[in-house]
Amino acid sequence: MGQTLHTLHAERSPMSGDAPVVTATDVSGLYPDREPMAPLAHSVTPPSVPTKQEKCYDPHDKTLRFVDGEDDLDFLYEDFKSLRAQMSCGHAVTPTSLTNWCRRLLEQGESRFVCGGSACGAEWTFAEVCKMALLDPQEMEYFQKTMEFNAARQTLTTKLCPGCRSTVTRENGSDLNVLCKVCTAVKGRPFEFCWQCLREWKGARPRKDRCGNRGCCNPSLETLKKCPDITLCQYRYVYDDEFESEYEDEYGIRVCPSVRACPTCGLLLEHSTEACPSVDCPRCNVTFCFVCLKHSGECLTSCIPAPRQTSIPVWKK
Ligand SMILES: [Zn+2]
Ligand SMILES: [Zn+2]
Ligand SMILES: [Zn+2]
Ligand SMILES: [Zn+2]
Ligand SMILES: [Zn+2]
Repeated sequence: MGQTLHTLHAERSPMSGDAPVVTATDVSGLYPDREPMAPLAHSVTPPSVPTKQEKCYDPHDKTLRFVDGEDDLDFLYEDFKSLRAQMSCGHAVTPTSLTNWCRRLLEQGESRFVCGGSACGAEWTFAEVCKMALLDPQEMEYFQKTMEFNAARQTLTTKLCPGCRSTVTRENGSDLNVLCKVCTAVKGRPFEFCWQCLREWKGARPRKDRCGNRGCCNPSLETLKKCPDITLCQYRYVYDDEFESEYEDEYGIRVCPSVRACPTCGLLLEHSTEACPSVDCPRCNVTFCFVCLKHSGECLTSCIPAPRQTSIPVWKK
């Protein structure tokens, strides 16, 4: 376990010359019980997290710009006692109302901090949020990690509509046909595009392999189909009485494709062939056997090579 792996971008083919082997963001170990990402909401919704002890600005802090009036992010009328300070967009906040608002955004799957003040939508930097929300080190770590986690999730679940360039979230991960609501409203007819080739949809639906457009194909499936075979050695631990120690004993040679899609999350992984078949997926953190594709430990007695994969598992979290 824990050996070197090449992580292939799920949408790129390692077989074509211009496709670099990239390392996926390692989001393993974060929030294993997380719910699927909620649809992005820019509407004003009350923070779900109960307010801890209120944080207050230091009235002598010369780097803040204090203002009179309403706390623009106090959606639950909690009436925080702190002085109000102005954000870069001009809206007035208190450290606690700002913390609650940003926490809410992160819990909705956002990876950016967008002002919830009326008719605003300005984006604040993480540095501004840290300073203005008086984040403590723990909160800072949680915010940072959740931001990175959400950004990694978003690249999997959202794409830009080819018609209007707005961000579209795919609700059904096993159908390539996606409807853009913005274009549909503008054109006055359903506008559907292909999640794979990003062209206006052609042909019957639903489809998970390709649309009717010429040349629409899934490079990841091509890779799984065409990658070369590799040979892997399996080991078992043997206790040596003479030396009173355990050592690894080679007990089987297996042939399997050099690239596999992680059976849990679908990330394409290429085996380095330097270590045993058991690999850790850097995205979902699940350990599986490269040969039989079973979870680690399930194939100790009999490991039969699984055939080449012809579909990519969709991560159900
Ligand atoms: Zn604002
Ligand atoms: Zn559109
Ligand atoms: Zn297509
Ligand atoms: Zn995985
Ligand atoms: Zn196995």
